[in-house]
Order: sequence, then C-alpha cells, then structure tokens
Amino acid sequence: MSLSNGRPYLAIPGPSVMPDRVLRAMHRAAPNIYEGALHDLTRDVVADLKRVALTDAHVAIYIANGHGGWEAANANIFSRGDHALAILTGRFGLGWALSAEAMGVQVQRIDFGRQSPADPDRIEAALRADTDRRIKAVTLTHVDTASSVRNDIAAVRAAIDAAGHPALLAVDAIASLGCDPLKMDDWGIDVLVAASQKGLMTPPGLAFVWFSARAREVTRGADLRTPYWDWGPRATPAQYYQYFAGTAPTHHIYGLAEALKMLVHEEGLPAAWARHATLARAVWAAFEAWGQGGDIALNIADPAFRGTSVTAARIGDGGAGRLRRWCEEEAGVTLGIGLGMAEPTDPAYGDFLRVAHMGHVNAHMTLGVLSVMEAGMRALNVPHGDGALAAAAGVVAGGYSISGLH
Ligand SMILES: *Cc1c(COP(=O)(O)O)cnc(C)c1O
Repeated sequence: MSLSNGRPYLAIPGPSVMPDRVLRAMHRAAPNIYEGALHDLTRDVVADLKRVALTDAHVAIYIANGHGGWEAANANIFSRGDHALAILTGRFGLGWALSAEAMGVQVQRIDFGRQSPADPDRIEAALRADTDRRIKAVTLTHVDTASSVRNDIAAVRAAIDAAGHPALLAVDAIASLGCDPLKMDDWGIDVLVAASQKGLMTPPGLAFVWFSARAREVTRGADLRTPYWDWGPRATPAQYYQYFAGTAPTHHIYGLAEALKMLVHEEGLPAAWARHATLARAVWAAFEAWGQGGDIALNIADPAFRGTSVTAARIGDGGAGRLRRWCEEEAGVTLGIGLGMAEPTDPAYGDFLRVAHMGHVNAHMTLGVLSVMEAGMRALNVPHGDGALAAAAGVVAGGYSISGLH
C-alpha cells in the first residue's frame, strides 16, 4: 500500500507551490504583443517589483533563472579584469562567485563555511586592506538556500561604509524576496537579484535585477555588458520590445502579475513576512524536539540567522536520504536535497535535507509536511525525540517559543 495518491506536494526551495490563480492567469491564448493589455500589465509588474523590494531603484526583467540573474548582474557591474569580493555562506554564494570568475572578474572570496552567517568585521577588514580601492562590488546571498543561513545585509552595508570603501553592495535575494523582510533602499543595496520561482510563486523562467542610480552611474561603460544583458533599455525602455530585448515572456507576465497582486496588494508584505516567520518557527520547533532523541540537528544553530523560507537540517546515518525517499514514495511529499553540504559521491550526502516553507504555503501544508516526516521516521526507525508535532502545533497556535529567539 502507498499513501501517496492525492495531490502531491513539493516542499523544495524552488520551484515553490504555485497558486491556482497564477496558473489560471497563464492559461490563455497568446496575447497581442504590440499594444494593449500586455503593455499595461508589464508596467504594473514593474511597479509591483519595486514595491516588493521596497525600492525606488530601476528593475530589469530577464527571461532566465537565478543563474541567469547572476550573470545579468555580473555583465552590468563588471568590466573584464575588475575585482569583486565574494562572500560565501553556502553553495549559492559560491555559485555567484564562480559565475563572475568565469566571466573574467578577479574574485577574492571570504568563505564563512556552511553553518554560519557572514561576519561584517571580516568584510570591513578585507575592504580596508584594499587600499587601491580596486574592489568594485561585494556579492553575497541574503538567504543562502543551501545552508539556509540568513545574512544581516544592513550590517554588511555598515561594514562597507565603515571601511570608507566605494564598492557596490550586490545581493542575491532569490530565496528570500517575499518571504523574509528585505528593504533594498533602507539597507543600502545597490544591486539586487531575484527570480520568479521561489517566494514570488510563479513558474521558473524570469530573473530580476534591481539597480540603484549610483550602481548605474558607477558601472557606466562596463565592458562585460552585451546588448541582450544590458539593464539600461530594459529598465527605461523607449519601445516596448526593449523591456525584454525581444519577444516578451507573455505568459509569465500574466502569472507574475497575479502573484504580485496576491503578495503585495492582498496579503501585504508585513503579513507575508509574519506568516513565513511563524511557519519557519513551527519547523524549527519540530526539529528541536526530534533532535532531543536522535542524531538530528538544524544546520544553523542561532535562530537569528536562519532564513524563514527554507530550513536545512542533518539527519545522521543516511536518515535524511532515506526519509526523503519515504516521503516521496509513501506520502506524496517531495523534500529538498541537502545541496552543497556534501558532494553526491560522499557517504555523508544522505545525511542532509531541506524543508521549504516558501511562497504559497500555509499552516496546514507545513504541519502536514512535518507530520509526514515524523511518520517516515517511525516507519524507517530513524531515532528521534518525541513531541515534535505538538511543538509545531504550539507555534501555530501562538504559544510556543523557540529557544534562543526572543
Ligand atoms: C535558487 C537559488 C539560486 C539559483 O536559482 P536558479 O533559478 O536555480 O538558477 C541562486 N541563489 C539562491 C539564493 C537561490 O535560492
């Protein structure tokens, strides 16, 4: 017997669950691309993309995934041979650094490992040491989806300022936008990268790059910039086709417009942030309880530095891998793989997994995933502590606090 028939649930950090409203908005004949509704909708989407990042900056939309978003940012920021300071707190920070290196940027890396946030003091020291002021940008992830660490972006800005360094602050918010509070202008972010398929609840296929007036000025003439990737015409088009340097991603625009309407105008960002925070705490509470009676631990020890859209955890002795398989085959729930924590050929690879709680997720979905995980631990005899589901329910009910979080 399998209990997996029924509606499957993808609890992975992207693509996230798509609202039926978003899917329905996309289910239509190809629209007129020359004039009319699509043009109006594109302008609405651009305005809402600025609202969702709390910014007055420009935004360019690309037909790309997050990796394309990194390269779009690189192409506009850097010239060949320019210097960058890449902050690594997980596999995605590394990915961005590698993409810049491959494009001919001289990247200096500071690696904070897979279980800790970036230390702003070390960033400040690295910038002070750059006496010729050659570093053009500092790149880092807000939430690194591999480790689930959340970096304190405002503190990194303060470190750059304290060093008196002119470097741009470039942030990957692919996993956090719409989930964790993010304030592009208040936090002094110069370049921000995101994508459609995580907190923005839309199919993979769109990447976004916001850039401040200062970023535009400082990077004028960057020679990695080619016509397709140039953010200028996309952000301030004289003709509609310039938004996308060619044919518009018509259906994605309809889907994204609906998703942004739900997130920004109906629920509202503060409510969406609070929802993610509460669901994340329910997940953390469950893991804390499981960890009392088994080799189970959250990847990020300090709750102040955990992202609220995804939780990375360790379940030792290959338990994570076996549990993922059981949840998929026996219960219709797909959990995220333990990305970047160990290589796939390493026996420890099976010790890590991730639970996503990003985007179109509510209490019943998250509590359901946790219940299924507990059932799997019982079925597989994975040693675990008691009381996880009661603790998670307590968080949802509003009466349970996480140790270490005030
Ligand atoms: C998902 C993700 C990426 C990569 O996005 P793709 O769409 O898979 O290319 C990059 N950075 C972060 C923080 C992510 O969460």
